[in-house]
Amino acid sequence: MASPTRNDSTCCDVIIIGGSLAGLMCGLAAKHAGHNVQIIEQSSNARQSHRAGIGLAPYVNAFLEHHDCLVNSFTHHTTNLKTLKSNGALQVFSSQKRSLTSWDAFYYRLRSLYDGHISPYYPTAPSSAETDGSIIYKPRNQVLEITRLREHDSSLSLDVLDLDTGKTSELRADYVIGADGPDSLIRAKYLPDVQRQYAGYVVWRGVVPEGQVSDFTRELFSHSIVVHIMKQERTHCVVYMIPGVNGSLKPGERLLNFILYTNETPETLNDILVDAIDGHRHHNTVPAGQVKDEIWSKRVERAELNALPAPFQEVIGKVKQPFVQVIADFCSPSAAFEDGKVLLIGDALALFRPHAAAGSAQAAFHSLAVSDYLNGKISAQQWEEKVLKFSFLHWQQSIWWGNWYQKNIAIALISGLRFWTYVGIERVKAWWNSAESPI
Ligand SMILES: Cc1cc2nc3c(=O)[nH]c(=O)nc-3n(C[C@H](O)[C@H](O)[C@H](O)COP(=O)(O)OP(=O)(O)OC[C@H]3O[C@@H](n4cnc5c(N)ncnc54)[C@H](O)[C@@H]3O)c2cc1C
Repeated sequence: MASPTRNDSTCCDVIIIGGSLAGLMCGLAAKHAGHNVQIIEQSSNARQSHRAGIGLAPYVNAFLEHHDCLVNSFTHHTTNLKTLKSNGALQVFSSQKRSLTSWDAFYYRLRSLYDGHISPYYPTAPSSAETDGSIIYKPRNQVLEITRLREHDSSLSLDVLDLDTGKTSELRADYVIGADGPDSLIRAKYLPDVQRQYAGYVVWRGVVPEGQVSDFTRELFSHSIVVHIMKQERTHCVVYMIPGVNGSLKPGERLLNFILYTNETPETLNDILVDAIDGHRHHNTVPAGQVKDEIWSKRVERAELNALPAPFQEVIGKVKQPFVQVIADFCSPSAAFEDGKVLLIGDALALFRPHAAAGSAQAAFHSLAVSDYLNGKISAQQWEEKVLKFSFLHWQQSIWWGNWYQKNIAIALISGLRFWTYVGIERVKAWWNSAESPI
């Protein structure tokens, strides 16, 4: 692990709003650069399991090479992406190696690295370097407001509500990073018009212990990410293997992660979002155990009627307690505010459709760029240009991939053409300026 050398004269007080993956990656990079970091997170330390797989793109691996000192692996590796047709024919779609994990395993690893948080995933804390800055992770605290204090050397003041005591306190910082997700307080303050746009479909997610499926099915999904496209319905499903309970990678203890995308009209979406227990309407996610049984059964039946190949049928039939996420996206036109004192990163800046597994890559890319900015390697303007270019292109790519899987061919072609036009322009600009292409 290569930690940049600490330089006390440039050490800053940084507050990060949001202690999920983007906030933790940013906090870790800033701590290793010698800055004093506080992460303010409204949820508790014990995060509800997302029961979900997460694919780590190359930028995440680049981030981990610099900032992860733990030696045990937390990812399952596959060698390719395959498509399985209804007639059982299997085709290699792409031969790229992928690292796959679960949301929980990644979260607890970052917590262990950032603040030595003890969890069943990481029962001992790694040692920290003398050059690290100080760190705090404040769970159950919610940031309510942020104000620029011009009379105090341009520092920032935050009103923070302690959700356990109900008391509000004031915190001060040199820099505030909004890693507060798609419903960001920071984005709502500076960019109120940037809102989630419903993409026209939802994703159903669930996991099945590998021991519950046949040897053939387990073997198929353990080496590859496997996709099946239901052409008539313009929908698709994906299965891959992820770590099991407490991040176990032992054969026999891992999980098969099942993902099914279905197109939904506003009416059917309304039905899906109604909570099975108390009947209230969710906005973006229906948690596991709260999806109505009859709604899930209908989606399973429909998938089976569409000649879902046997290994997928085996897995979908064993998914208990699926959860639903509404697919939406947006991309902000600005990322730096208050003369570069307030920055937006991760899903707070741009929300991608999940197909390209670029959300965590974005969080890693933004976090590395924040570290360069805080260390004076790049200016606020350069930081903003860099992260906006990255986010815009990956957002366009996620729209293209989503439309390719879920919409008709004309829509898919138009979004593909749009994406490649933007990429072409950026590549020419990068070549002209002898710079690195952003994608
Ligand atoms: C089930 C699931 C599967 C995914 N699969 C993939 C995948 O395969 N590949 C991939 O690259 N990406 C995937 N993603 C997306 C990826 O996890 C995100 O892009 C990444 O975690 C970055 O999210 P974030 O930290 O920016 O935002 P979030 O995870 O939304 O975190 C924002 C945090 O801010 C906190 N917060 C919000 N407002 C306040 C406030 N006012 N005060 C204090 N705290 C606040 C929230 O409680 C939350 O913890 C997946 C996400 C989920 C949920």
